[in-house]
Amino acid sequence: MNKVIIIGCGGVGTVVAHKCAQNPDVFNEIVIASRNKAKCDAVAAAIGAPNITTDRVDADSVEQLVALFHRHRPQLVINVALPYQDLTIMDACLVCGVNYLDTANYEPRDEAHFEYSWQWAYRERFEKAGLTAILGCGFDPGVTGVYTARAAKHHFSEIHYLDIVDCNAGNHGKAFATNFNPEINIREITQKGRYYQDGKWVETGALEVHKPLNYPEIGPRESYLMYHEELESLVINYPTIKRARFWMTFGQEYLTHLRVIQDIGMASIEPINYQGMDIVPLQFLKAVLPNPKELGQNYTGQTSIGCRISGLDKEGKPLTYYIYNNCDHHAAFEETGMQAVSYTTGVPAMTGAMMFLKGLWSKPGVHNVEEFDPDPFLDVLNRQGLPWHEKFNVDLEL
Ligand code: NDP
Repeated sequence: MNKVIIIGCGGVGTVVAHKCAQNPDVFNEIVIASRNKAKCDAVAAAIGAPNITTDRVDADSVEQLVALFHRHRPQLVINVALPYQDLTIMDACLVCGVNYLDTANYEPRDEAHFEYSWQWAYRERFEKAGLTAILGCGFDPGVTGVYTARAAKHHFSEIHYLDIVDCNAGNHGKAFATNFNPEINIREITQKGRYYQDGKWVETGALEVHKPLNYPEIGPRESYLMYHEELESLVINYPTIKRARFWMTFGQEYLTHLRVIQDIGMASIEPINYQGMDIVPLQFLKAVLPNPKELGQNYTGQTSIGCRISGLDKEGKPLTYYIYNNCDHHAAFEETGMQAVSYTTGVPAMTGAMMFLKGLWSKPGVHNVEEFDPDPFLDVLNRQGLPWHEKFNVDLEL
C-alpha cells in the first residue's frame, strides 16, 4: 500500500490532492494535513474520494510532525506548506524513516535568502538512512530542471546558454494579487537580480534588466531578469553552462503596485510594534490581499514557462532549442478549482511523488530533480495536464 501525506492545503496543496486522487492505483492512501484541519476537510470533501483522510499539524514543530508520521506511517511526505517548514519536515522524516519531496527551497523567516545549502547539508543523513529527498519539484524549480535534463540527455553534447522564461499572461480581474503565497512571492520578487556568467554570479538591481520576449500563443511580454533557485543546482549539474538566467513577466499595473507597497514599507519583513503587538508588515499585507486560492474563478488567459537553450548538439554542431508548456487558467480551474500557477506547481509535485513511489526516482540522499531520469516524468506530465512542446533551431531572442 502506498501512502502519502500532503502537508499544506493552499492553492498548490489542493491541486496535489486532486491529482493524487486521480491516480489511486499509485496513491492508494492520501492524508492532507495543515494547521487548519477544516481547510483540509473542505478540500477532501470537494474531491470526494474514499482514500483521503485529513489531520492537523503545525509543521514548525518537529515533535508534532513526528507524531503525525507515527499516526499515519506514510512512505513519502509531499511538502507544499511554506519554505520555512522545509527543515523541520526533513528532520521529522529522518526520525521516522519517511521520504521527502518539496517545491521550494528552505528560507529563514527573518531573511529573504534563497539557496540550497541548508537542505544539501542533509545529504549524508538521508543517504545513511536510505531515504530519498527530492528538492524543488514544482514547475520552476521543477519542470524547468527536468526540461534541462531532457535537453542534455537527448539533444546536446554541451549546454552553453540557459534562459528559463516564465510568462503569466493571465487576467484575474483584481487590481493587485499574487498568484501564490503573497509573503513568499513578494520576498522573491523584491530581492536583487542575479545570474550566472563564466563561473561567477553577477548581481543586478531588483527587476533592473528587462526586455520583451515572445511567448507561444501569447506574443510579446516584457520579461524581467530575476534570481531563481534552480539556477544554483543547474550550473553545478551542467558544468558546460557559460551563462544561466531566469526571466519572469510582469505587467505595468503589477509593478506600480509593488513599488508603492515597497515605498510605504509594507514589503518589510522587520517586525514593528503596533498598539502593543509585534507585527511583520508583509505578513499583515498578506492578510488583506486576495487569497491566491480564490483567484481561479474568473481567471482567463495562459501561463507559458520553458527553457531556451543553446550549445552544441550530439554531433558537435550549434543548436538552439526551446521546450515549454502553456497552461490555461480556466481549464486548470475547471479541473481542480485552482488557477494555473497552483496547477503548474501541483501537477509536477504529484508526478515527482509518482516517480518515487514507482521506484523510478528513488535514490537515497538529497537530490534536485535534474539528477533523475527525465523521460518517465515527462511522459506522465504529458498525460496529466501539462503537455510540453519542443522547437529546434529557432531564434531564442536571448
Ligand atoms: P498558500 O499560502 O496558498 O498555502 C500554504 C499552505 O501551507 C496553507 O495551506 C497553510 O495552511 C500551510 N501552512 C503554512 N504554515 C504551516 C505550518 N507551520 N504547518 C502546517 N501547514 C502550514 O501557498 P501556495 O499553495 O500558493 O504555495 C505552497 C508552496 O508552493 C510554497 O512553498 C511556494 O513557495 C511553493 N510554490 C512553488 C512553485 C514552483 O513552481 N516550484 C510555484 C508556486 C508556489 P494553514 O494555515 O492551515 O496551516
